[in-house]
Amino acid sequence: MGIATRLLAVLVPSMVVIMGVYAFIALHQRAELISEALIRETETLAQALRAVTDNAIRDGRYPDLDAVLSGVSEDPETFLVAVLEPSGEMLSGGTQVLPDCLPTGVIQAPPESGLRGWAECEGRVRWVSLPVREPARALLVARRATVVEQDEAHSRIRISLTTLALGGGAALVILLVLQSTLSRPLERILAGVRELGGPSTLEPIRLGRSAGELRYLAEAFNEMAKRLEEKRRTLVKEVEGRIALEGRVRREEKFAALGRLTGGLAHELGTPLNVIGVRAEAILESQETSEDARRQAREIVAEVERVAGLIRSLVHMARRDRLDPEPVDLAELVREVAPERLPGDIGGPTRPRLRLPPDPVIVEGDRNLLRHALLNLVTNAVQALASEEGERDEPGALDIILDLEGGWATVEILDDGPGVPPTDVPHLFEPFFTTKDVGEGMGLGLAIARGIIEEHGGSLELEVQEPRGVRAVVRLPQEPSALPGAGEEGASQ
Ligand code: ADP
Repeated sequence: MGIATRLLAVLVPSMVVIMGVYAFIALHQRAELISEALIRETETLAQALRAVTDNAIRDGRYPDLDAVLSGVSEDPETFLVAVLEPSGEMLSGGTQVLPDCLPTGVIQAPPESGLRGWAECEGRVRWVSLPVREPARALLVARRATVVEQDEAHSRIRISLTTLALGGGAALVILLVLQSTLSRPLERILAGVRELGGPSTLEPIRLGRSAGELRYLAEAFNEMAKRLEEKRRTLVKEVEGRIALEGRVRREEKFAALGRLTGGLAHELGTPLNVIGVRAEAILESQETSEDARRQAREIVAEVERVAGLIRSLVHMARRDRLDPEPVDLAELVREVAPERLPGDIGGPTRPRLRLPPDPVIVEGDRNLLRHALLNLVTNAVQALASEEGERDEPGALDIILDLEGGWATVEILDDGPGVPPTDVPHLFEPFFTTKDVGEGMGLGLAIARGIIEEHGGSLELEVQEPRGVRAVVRLPQEPSALPGAGEEGASQ
């Protein structure tokens, strides 16, 4: 049961009881007033009739007395009017004997001031007995209290109906007032409390003037919810930051271990590889080398190049602490790594769509490393598109978009190639994770690119697009260029 209903259940019955008591008192007072009026009327009538009776007895005009008394008797409110002899018989006022309901005292010689009282004769009756001239003993006047009784009955009905109507109306008004000042404001506050801590941001509770003190409660609640929301946001940021930091620390540790390993390997393998490469090229250049030996020497040179490339990549990861920062124009870098500018075996036939701002986008960083990172991403997109060559009616699309946003430079590389199966997504940035054939990929491209970008204070994300393709997003903190002449080139495509 709601608080409004409960208040109503207490208020309305007490109100009805109070009104009932008031109505009872009013009714009682009214009945008394009417009774008194009846008493006065009976007394006055009796006094007037006594004068008439005395005169009629003195002059022996009994027929006149009879006429007067029977005239009074005709009044429906008159129960009895009679002049009684000492024997109890009636001298005048009809032939009836004295009814049993009236006390016999009325015929005893009444004192000068008279006798009076109430009797129950088919309804209440007020009687007055006054002494009259001899040979009669008493004049008896009895009047019915019908008016009082009828008025009492009418008043009872009227007052009951008024009490009911007033009670009902008051209950309705109280209910409406309680609803607008108590129930509805409380419901809104309660809904707010329930929503607190939920996934959606809480709208502040606004209550009208009618809510009275509950408005202060709502304001305090809004203030509390605001502070909680701020705390929650700070906490989420802190947790996200901590998770990102932990991820970075883990990766750094991995890279540090890898760095030590690859540094040693590069050192140990570099010299013999170099010797093998130089010797193989010497064999290639010699006039005496047969065609078969030349072919084999070419294979050795190609393999040596491949292993040297692997070692270079490993060394990139190993030398993370050797950044050589300078102002770098990202727009220029993007144009450099666009597939059409790359050798055919990397770039392939794919024509990219470049979207670059008109002015140079300068970031502080190591030009070679940043170029290497972007090249890895573009190469992945091109290879993904190339893997579907011949299977699609339309040629694959590759977009490279450079933009500036709130002090950050973003490079988006979007392709509509086959995308990545969900099971591979968690492993994409792991070193040596690859889905490509031997010789096409070593699984270091993304790991190296992310390492380089993070070293520059940025981030690299890879999103699998719906219905197909991949979107690589590089974010780098943008610094205003200190280079003279920046912005004059206005390069765009
Ligand atoms: P690699 O290219 O040598 O395989 P990467 O670290 O660059 O190594 O990439 C790891 C793997 O991520 C790839 O083998 C490929 O499966 C997936 N990948 C990266 N970029 C894309 C892309 N744009 N489209 C589809 N798959 C991709």
